[in-house]
Amino acid sequence: MKAARYYEELQRNTLKCNLCPHYCVIGDGKQGICRVRKNTGGELFLETYGVVSSVGFDPIEKKPLYHFYPGSEIFSIGSFGCNLRCKFCQNWQISQETPNGGSPRRQNSPESLVATALENKSNIGIAFTYNEPIVWFEFMMDIAAISRKKGLKNVMVTNGFINREPLAELIGLIDAFNVDLKAFTEDFYKHQTFSKLEPVKETLKIIRKSGRHLEITNLVVTGLNDNMKDFTEMVKWISGELGRDTVLHLSRYFPNYKTSAVPTPVGILEEFHALASQSLDFVYLGNLTSTTGQDTKCPQCGAKVINRSRYDTWISGLDKDGKCKKCNHKILEYI
Ligand code: SF4
Repeated sequence: MKAARYYEELQRNTLKCNLCPHYCVIGDGKQGICRVRKNTGGELFLETYGVVSSVGFDPIEKKPLYHFYPGSEIFSIGSFGCNLRCKFCQNWQISQETPNGGSPRRQNSPESLVATALENKSNIGIAFTYNEPIVWFEFMMDIAAISRKKGLKNVMVTNGFINREPLAELIGLIDAFNVDLKAFTEDFYKHQTFSKLEPVKETLKIIRKSGRHLEITNLVVTGLNDNMKDFTEMVKWISGELGRDTVLHLSRYFPNYKTSAVPTPVGILEEFHALASQSLDFVYLGNLTSTTGQDTKCPQCGAKVINRSRYDTWISGLDKDGKCKKCNHKILEYI
């Protein structure tokens, strides 16, 4: 447990959390929507500081990040809790549950986690992932500060539902973001995720403007956000507001948590891939077996520059500066 940041006192012992756009008003002894930030005696605490649900070295492609040091490994850390309530959550066991209070868990210090990350010489850094890292902001920031000092890269996989001030702080320490853009209607965000779309769009614009590396993931859920009209609007917005070189991952959904619809038909994903590729240079398909949407092609000359097979990656057509060997077009900033 550690003192939380970004909150204010409304009246005696009643607090308002300003970390994310829910602005939870939290009475003494109660937690916010994320279940991990608690008012104890008029002070807000992060209950899960130092508590991890899982750690491991993952291919960077698993985050997914395809244009950030492709083929490398990254030490990945998850904790508990989430500020959203997605009915189709693919990680609900850790996002919608809190650690079992009955069994004390081993506390992990930021220093010990960074030390583990440094043990693997081919590891490029630390990814904050698996559950929503926004809700363990203080723990993430402490780890990221040490990791940065040791020369490691910091990566965050997030739903992007965060307020501007803490986001600005994060941008100071996080090198690459993968943001989930879950759909493109307020109705979907309200009824399927218990949050709002507009703040996520703001987050995407701010990250893009900051120059930090950004990739987007859209989980296509059968019958919920597989509407061609909404998807077209989303892709046009990404291309117009963030640029046609923005990387978009379309991910296949499988029944989970409170959603039992059949897995996304591969045909729909391939159709969406073709449609998105008209407005965006880099569109990938994930969580499925398909020959479509795996490799990276040069948007200028069409040459295949990176080959992928699941999480195996071969950089075949790029020089050391991330330029296409055939036409010299700059494709990757981080290689
Ligand atoms: S971070 Fe948690 S407590 Fe704070 S406003 Fe968001 S959901 Fe509420």
